[in-house]
Amino acid sequence: MATSSAQEHAVSRGWKALSTLLVTAARHAKPLPLDGSFVNNPLHRGSTVVYPSMSAMRDAGQYTYDHVTLYGAMGSPNQHDLEQVMALIEGGMHSHVVSSGLSACTIPLLAYLSAGDHCLIIDSIYGPTRRFAETVMKRFGVEVSYYPADISTEQVRNYLKSNTKVIFTESPGSHTFEIQDIGALAELAHEYKAKLILDNTWGIGIFKPFDHGVDVSVQALTKYANGHSDLVLGAITVNNETDWKILRNTIIALGEVPGPDACWLTLRGLRTLSARLEQQSISGLKIAQWFAQQPQTERVLHPALPSCYGHDLWKRDFFGASSIFGVVFKNYVTPEQVVNMIENLSLFSIGASWGGYESLVLPTDSEIRRSFPNKILTGPACRFHIGLENSEDLIKDLEQAFSICFV
Ligand SMILES: *Cc1c(COP(=O)(O)O)cnc(C)c1O
Repeated sequence: MATSSAQEHAVSRGWKALSTLLVTAARHAKPLPLDGSFVNNPLHRGSTVVYPSMSAMRDAGQYTYDHVTLYGAMGSPNQHDLEQVMALIEGGMHSHVVSSGLSACTIPLLAYLSAGDHCLIIDSIYGPTRRFAETVMKRFGVEVSYYPADISTEQVRNYLKSNTKVIFTESPGSHTFEIQDIGALAELAHEYKAKLILDNTWGIGIFKPFDHGVDVSVQALTKYANGHSDLVLGAITVNNETDWKILRNTIIALGEVPGPDACWLTLRGLRTLSARLEQQSISGLKIAQWFAQQPQTERVLHPALPSCYGHDLWKRDFFGASSIFGVVFKNYVTPEQVVNMIENLSLFSIGASWGGYESLVLPTDSEIRRSFPNKILTGPACRFHIGLENSEDLIKDLEQAFSICFV
């Protein structure tokens, strides 16, 4: 794909349609004197809700499954505002905000699995989700196994069992960025009467999970949704009342609740999501293409580039690309050279999270845990997150670090 058409594709469809929704959704100003109001919703902190009468208090019980505030641990008004916007972004019926992206991954697993069930997980799953599966889920008697991220959906069938109740996938996969055929995977899951859970963090705003038959979509709001690297938060979205009750009951039973301040900040971050993503996507693709041209690069793992597994599925299913991608270096490049290069960058900080306004880099060799041999990682690898700095400045920074370290 030529540079310009790839960039057009990366930015053409998704966020422009999102932008008006993000600016207008869930805005209810609190009246100020003279009938004025602030632009943003007020912040509500609280534990006890006091009622004007006993009957009002008794009536509250019927709203357990509604997005209304009954008690601090049942969710704040700021949480409910954010849930409304998240359901719109994901295209689902109900969203539940939880205290981290990781708890957004683990809670649906707790909600749908019991002792004796089998859970099939993609091999390129976010690492801490794998840790939860290997520790808590196994201890609670759930059978856990994995499927390779680079096989066809028909081959995934071979990994299913008669007791499979959940397929948990991520597309693109963590660190290796393989794209899955989510529609086909949903059909397969449903044939087995299993639920398909998707970690859709990379695809926020550019992949509509419920159009492809997903049952539960997970978002780490910590990433692009909040976008300012100053909090952790997650969201779980479902598309019917039955799934909503299962999810909500589990969350109430756990006592899981995000703080209102984090919800307020995340909703503020979301107002600018489409503008940030559009800009970061253009820069991200430009820099991914710069990497592809360097003699030290073996492969760039960016779904908008043909070198990435599932590129054609990305073209078919996604409305754009985000700005995080992987680079695999030639096998003659040593891990020490890569570390040296990274430490010579001035505009990229070394760090693990992503989706903020600032560029990041992370060597991924030691981050990647796989149950199957990985054909992609033929040399040292790094993950780059491209922020809102000027892309020419970022490329200059990379050029100087390459010239020092790869001589
Ligand atoms: C970061 C991340 C999470 C976890 O989010 P936290 O808020 O950091 O717990 C889950 N899934 C993916 C794909 C992530 O990148």
